[in-house]
Amino acid sequence: MNFELPEDIVALRDVVRKFAAEEIRPHAREWDEKQWLPDSVIAQMAELGLLGLTIPTEFGGSGLGYLANATVMEEIARQDGGTALMLAAHNGLCIAQLMLAANPEQKTRYFPRLAAGKLIGAWGLTEPSCGSDAGALKTRAEKDGSGWRITGHKQFITNGARAGVFVIVAITDPAAGPKGISAFIVERDAKNFSVGRKEDKLGMRCSDTVTLNLDGVPVGPEALLGKLGEGYRDALRVLERGRVGIGALSVGLARGALEESLEYVKQRQAFGKPLSDFQAIQFMLADMATELEAARLLVWDAAASLDRGEGEKVKACIAKMFASEIATRAALNAIQIHGGYGYTKEVHVERYMRDAKLCEIGEGSSQVQRILIARELLAANPV
Ligand SMILES: Cc1cc2nc3c(=O)[nH]c(=O)nc-3n(C[C@H](O)[C@H](O)[C@H](O)COP(=O)(O)OP(=O)(O)OC[C@H]3O[C@@H](n4cnc5c(N)ncnc54)[C@H](O)[C@@H]3O)c2cc1C
Repeated sequence: MNFELPEDIVALRDVVRKFAAEEIRPHAREWDEKQWLPDSVIAQMAELGLLGLTIPTEFGGSGLGYLANATVMEEIARQDGGTALMLAAHNGLCIAQLMLAANPEQKTRYFPRLAAGKLIGAWGLTEPSCGSDAGALKTRAEKDGSGWRITGHKQFITNGARAGVFVIVAITDPAAGPKGISAFIVERDAKNFSVGRKEDKLGMRCSDTVTLNLDGVPVGPEALLGKLGEGYRDALRVLERGRVGIGALSVGLARGALEESLEYVKQRQAFGKPLSDFQAIQFMLADMATELEAARLLVWDAAASLDRGEGEKVKACIAKMFASEIATRAALNAIQIHGGYGYTKEVHVERYMRDAKLCEIGEGSSQVQRILIARELLAANPV
């Protein structure tokens, strides 16, 4: 058993660490307030290969795996969760479903532009009336000549305001339940397709979250992504993988909370001593460090398992659930350690707390993760 990162991933990590510290950190508060990530930072991330991280090199991507992605997510989120969420939706959702199900023509059409950042990807499963129970979706794709006509609404779609390409999950056979759900590729300029309201969120604010309106969007047969009736199955497989990325994002936020706190306790004095001298403060730091280490190991184990092709889905659930919950805890502790300043926008840690909370909700809430973990446990230990 080897817990060291491979050399190529260490090299990537160091480049991304420097980039995030120099190009993201100084602007994170401003982007949070403006609720927008500038195109220029997306172009810089594309330049570093972060927008095609898992896309094969033959299509202009970096051809890397889940462990590499986890490392990148941690480094970016250590400075700003919203920027990491933008990458998570692009790489871990949209591109992930294309990787699973796209045919060679679709890969040729979309991968080079996605990898170059010329096209941003978004992924639409959630609807106004269903998120956890995603199989209850209502969006319909009805046969229309050789193609389809898609009608419905999607809710909480990350990157929707700037994306050029959307994976849309819709019912193609209402009588077939989950096996009657398929996935489609919809381009932004498709007829009868519009981006609706942008959410004014608690956290992850520089990452845009919108509703999508599909009012009878006509698409050709080439828009079907994967096999007919397998769109929901593929979407669940995407989520199993995407959760590892959200776990890594959470680790980045927890690390940020700890590192900011470690700096602060050395500078801030109370009762004639630095805060670092107080055992109550030390215990908070120790708890944060312990939980951070445990979360990172869970995330790396889940990522390495996917890279080996084993993909035990329960590992991803455990990693995502634990990492997201300890990230919120770490951020709350960091605010406590920063005292009154922790409750102001002067410091990064208040943003980490707002960003971390999303990780307990998106890509399957903590409750949903517990349901999935318990289901696996009970299946492996029948009565
Ligand atoms: C910022 C943001 C970005 C997002 N990005 C995307 C995206 O890009 N694409 C996309 O498709 N979706 C996206 N989502 C949607 C996200 O995945 C859902 O919000 C999430 O799955 C929860 O669904 P819901 O909001 O409908 O909550 P609900 O399903 O209504 O759940 C409400 C509460 O009930 C609990 N609950 C539900 N069912 C059970 C149960 N059986 N047992 C116990 N408790 C239960 C939940 O845990 C939660 O606490 C995003 C959401 C947000 C907030």
